[in-house]
Amino acid sequence: MLRVGVALDPVAGGPVVDPLGEQTDEPRDAVVIGASIAGLTAARVLADHFQRVTVIDRDPAPHPVLFRAGVPQAPHPHILLARWQQILEQPFPGLVAALHTAGGVPWAFGPDLPFVGGGPGCGPPGRVAGKRGRGLRARGMWRPGTAPGSVDVYDGSSDCRHPVLQSSTPFGILGHESGFAPDGRTLWISTTARAGIAAIDVSNPRLPSMVWYNQTYTFHGMNFNDDGTRLYGADLGAVHGLSILDVSQIQNRDPRPVVAQGSHLTWPAVSLPKH
Ligand SMILES: Cc1cc2nc3c(=O)[nH]c(=O)nc-3n(C[C@H](O)[C@H](O)[C@H](O)COP(=O)(O)OP(=O)(O)OC[C@H]3O[C@@H](n4cnc5c(N)ncnc54)[C@H](O)[C@@H]3O)c2cc1C
Repeated sequence: MLRVGVALDPVAGGPVVDPLGEQTDEPRDAVVIGASIAGLTAARVLADHFQRVTVIDRDPAPHPVLFRAGVPQAPHPHILLARWQQILEQPFPGLVAALHTAGGVPWAFGPDLPFVGGGPGCGPPGRVAGKRGRGLRARGMWRPGTAPGSVDVYDGSSDCRHPVLQSSTPFGILGHESGFAPDGRTLWISTTARAGIAAIDVSNPRLPSMVWYNQTYTFHGMNFNDDGTRLYGADLGAVHGLSILDVSQIQNRDPRPVVAQGSHLTWPAVSLPKH
């Protein structure tokens, strides 16, 4: 989230009067709301054009830097793609080297990096081991250079921190995001980088089987209603937004399941929907 405001003289386009009453052509104040990657980058760029840049965040700035409530995705590993590295090096010369010094890992897309979509992580007691996903965890992998992708299923019901591998199956689908129907019998994998979602029966986690595959949808995360019959997809397709699918025939193991799209929602400020 990022909001940038520019405080100018009330007379549009007129000269700015600085606090000492002197006139200057340089705009005086810029205010950036949100002190994460976008806000801090914007503030750095604005600093070349404004006398003063104020960054406002709802979180206090911790010292040393810690994960903050306002950026819940921060503990998740992030990738700084090559083009972003080039762009960020301009306002922040030496940034990439500094990230490496701080522990960032250089990588090569393909050989080093599988896309991995996980299942539910460790949650409050009973949540993972009980209702949600039967304690199963899974990952769909995609190594673009060495496809086919495989799907690994783990059992974390006794200790979600140490899930035990149940199966590793070369389905050949490309995985990035995943989700479980709440009863833990159906694992969903989406490719995300392109269209493709798969439903995999994990009733027997040692012998998973694909029950449906489709190349219509590009989902960046999937959630489900309580009985697993409705899928809420963060849609990165032609029109970004939220798609809701009726997947009841898959959940009920109809031999020829038909998936109907119930609705698609978008909004003017839609960006990259996620989860
Ligand atoms: C689970 C998850 C995994 C992701 N994985 C990746 C990945 O692997 N690679 C990748 O490139 N991207 C990934 N992303 C996306 C990436 O994290 C975001 O695109 C990026 O963090 C967005 O940066 P931002 O500065 O726009 O917003 P945010 O990082 O969301 O920061 C928003 C800031 O605004 C502040 N704020 C919010 N409301 C207010 C308010 N009312 N007043 C003042 N301050 C406010 C917050 O405290 C926060 O500091 C992931 C996102 C999620 C959720």
